[in-house]
Amino acid sequence: MPKARELFDVQSVRRDFPILAERVNGRPLIWLDNAATTQKPQAVIDRLAYFYAHENSNIHRAAHALAARATEAYEQARATVARFLGASSPEEIVFLRGTTEAINLVARSWGQQQIGEGDEIVVSHLEHHANIVPWHQLAIEKGAKVRVIPVDDRGQILLDAYQRLLNPRTRLVNISQVSNALGTVTPVREVIELAHAAGAKVLVDGAQSVSHLPVDVQTLDADFFVFSGHKVFGPTGIGVLYGKQAVLEAMPPWQGGGNMIADVTFERVLYHKPPGRFEAGTGNIADAVGLATALDYLELIGRERIARYEHELLVYATDALLDIPGLHLIGTADDKASVLSFVLEGHRPSDVGEALSREGIAVRAGHHCAQPILRRFGHEATVRPSLAFYNTHEEIDTLVRALRRLSHRTLSISGR
Ligand code: PMP
Repeated sequence: MPKARELFDVQSVRRDFPILAERVNGRPLIWLDNAATTQKPQAVIDRLAYFYAHENSNIHRAAHALAARATEAYEQARATVARFLGASSPEEIVFLRGTTEAINLVARSWGQQQIGEGDEIVVSHLEHHANIVPWHQLAIEKGAKVRVIPVDDRGQILLDAYQRLLNPRTRLVNISQVSNALGTVTPVREVIELAHAAGAKVLVDGAQSVSHLPVDVQTLDADFFVFSGHKVFGPTGIGVLYGKQAVLEAMPPWQGGGNMIADVTFERVLYHKPPGRFEAGTGNIADAVGLATALDYLELIGRERIARYEHELLVYATDALLDIPGLHLIGTADDKASVLSFVLEGHRPSDVGEALSREGIAVRAGHHCAQPILRRFGHEATVRPSLAFYNTHEEIDTLVRALRRLSHRTLSISGR
């Protein structure tokens, strides 16, 4: 069988991303910080410029031609996101600033209404701070409890322990589909099934999954699904909350203002139905439109092809990293996507990050806003290269050579 890399023309894909031709510190840029943010194809950059050159207006309000164009583009974008996620209707898609804001909306609206004293909110040990802090805040306010799904020593969710956590007080389970710190792909389908059997709802954090795996919220049966545009080759400042229609319709607004109302007097306010009810004020119109272009671009390449190519690249990179003396991978789940977290003996992660940057290689070094899971493995920080479909085997070779040089230097100093 031909290898995935032979079926995927990565050089042609790379030409779609102008920033990949940049040089930094005199070297070609190697962008391996995709879990923090992804680069943008020319199609997205052009779409933003086109919007401001030909369509710019506020939406849903005026009777003039540009308002109609901007409204059409924005609502088309909502329909594109709905299709991309497999939602049953565009009404299930709320535009927000990003994953963080989407989770806060669910906590402030659904959580305020549904969580009471003694109730339990479950999060996995893998979660990003964005999927811990809002639940912590809500739990304190309501006298509720946050409970944690443990992971094994490879960073995999322990389903048995999770099942034992569930009880009649469990109201909501929050889980990342892909961990940003370790790359673990979690068994969200099973997690959701078990939660539903216990009468709880589930929020899936898709910030790290939508750029790597095909997602279908109806097959998953997720109640909420959230992601950020900037991590899926779209603009910053735009993100998505998917919610099942019946769930969204029962939720109160979380912010008040224009755009989200049907009628206002000083005595009473009538709100729009979702999604308008949750989009108070002037939103990020152009970037919603740019996000839709990014999703169309991704679908054109094909999410299955992307997943296959990236998986091969991940296996290639994993094997090469494991061969470097003194390098320890953190997170070795059977099912992983994109992320290779590691520590290198004798080097602080920040020093490794700086040494790589001098060679044009961008990786993240730090706690990745996921302190609980790094501490579970005894670390305050790791080095984290993270892949996207425009990365190449040659880039991995360059990374590995640079790390080998660092490793060799320590070993020769320590006389090993
Ligand atoms: N969840 C996960 C799994 C993430 O990786 C991130 C971003 N690192 C977030 C949530 C927060 O996303 P944003 O900062 O775009 O709101």
